[in-house]
Amino acid sequence: MMTDILQSMSDFDQQHLWHPYASLPPTYSNIVIDHADGIHIVTQGGIRLIDGMSSWWASVHGYNHPKLNAAITQQLDKMAHVMFGGLTHQPAIDLGKKLLSIVPAGLDAIFYADSGSIAVEVALKMALQYQIAANRPNKQQFASTRSGYYGDTWHAMSICDPVNGMHSLYGKQLPMQHFVPAPPLGFERALTVEERTGLSQFFVEYGAQLAGFIIEPIIQGAGGMRFYSPDYLQLLRQLCDEHDVLLIADEIATGFGRSGKLFACEHAGISPDIMTIGKALTGGYMTFAATLCTRKIAETIHNSDYPALMHGPTFMGNPLACAVACASIDLIMSYNIEARTANMQCIMEQQLGVAATLEGVFEVRCLGAVAVIELEADVDMPVFQSLLIEHGIWVRPFGKLVYIMPPYVITDDELMTLCQALLKVIRMYLTKQGQ
Ligand SMILES: *Cc1c(COP(=O)(O)O)cnc(C)c1O
Repeated sequence: MMTDILQSMSDFDQQHLWHPYASLPPTYSNIVIDHADGIHIVTQGGIRLIDGMSSWWASVHGYNHPKLNAAITQQLDKMAHVMFGGLTHQPAIDLGKKLLSIVPAGLDAIFYADSGSIAVEVALKMALQYQIAANRPNKQQFASTRSGYYGDTWHAMSICDPVNGMHSLYGKQLPMQHFVPAPPLGFERALTVEERTGLSQFFVEYGAQLAGFIIEPIIQGAGGMRFYSPDYLQLLRQLCDEHDVLLIADEIATGFGRSGKLFACEHAGISPDIMTIGKALTGGYMTFAATLCTRKIAETIHNSDYPALMHGPTFMGNPLACAVACASIDLIMSYNIEARTANMQCIMEQQLGVAATLEGVFEVRCLGAVAVIELEADVDMPVFQSLLIEHGIWVRPFGKLVYIMPPYVITDDELMTLCQALLKVIRMYLTKQGQ
């Protein structure tokens, strides 16, 4: 009976619902989830899985959190939504104050967006409007590094890694941007003289055309789960200043503690001109994001012939999202986040480090509350996924990358259980593949 219901749910899903980066119908079926609680995701059949993904960087406090639930229900009693055009409300103001008190120095104006990709679009529009307002009309293009990921909308996509982002699929319709090589791998690795000169040379050549340079600080996420040195970010800050290029830091994945600092820019002690946040902003409760910029940018646009920032989503500043974001930030600030993530990094390094010795593993790397096991070949997902479920954990690899970024509320014991189960799965998987 139960399996019949499950089967029909999954049949409908397979026939009618697209999933992220998937075909319809999919090549293998999605797992039906009934509910989630704390660090566990529970399937319709009652299998409890330890969540290793925080639902793609977002659910940092685990699921069904009493304080976040309370924040939403209290706000729901007042209003779920009102338009932000011509109206404002306490949750939007409260969130704004909280954000400005924790983000890197200098960021002072906020645009609430509906998702990370949209926050990136707004950042790009902001940068262009600023350069036009500052009387630098030739600065119309954007640059980024290879292996970046900034979202799936049109212009966000144009600055994603051209190979990973499948630019070839979209032909000439995608705007052409500039790319420099990906920052060299390794958080601790200082830049060589050649690497410094290479980046400087790029700015000398193209700086005059660039409105902005966008980068994910310290951790490149969906474009390759790569960690790089604060040195690189410092140099980039300096070059952007020298060439009047706005530095846009995309902290949508790294923000709110994931890299080991509250914001990854802090590793380099720099402030960006524009910063995007999202994902963990609402503790994973709902889609919401923001684009922040300096007073100088806001003022320059304000003092121009076109003082309005030309973007205005229907659900801008949604009160439910603002209320839950306030509660989420309060929780984060109560965690002693640097110590907590340092402890998570330590446990993950201890538990997963031995995977580096396995045949078929290219490298194991950890930074903050992120651990990556890079394999030598792409993961065979159906095989890997059924092993994960058998071992009671939820991890979602892409390509060669098996990675975890667990919720911050996971206990040391639970984190060890997650790591040990993952290690077992990788061992079994690689043995199977080797046969
Ligand atoms: C996820 C992500 C985005 C896109 O956010 P969505 O909410 O999925 O649109 C943009 N930039 C980075 C760095 C991300 O990790």
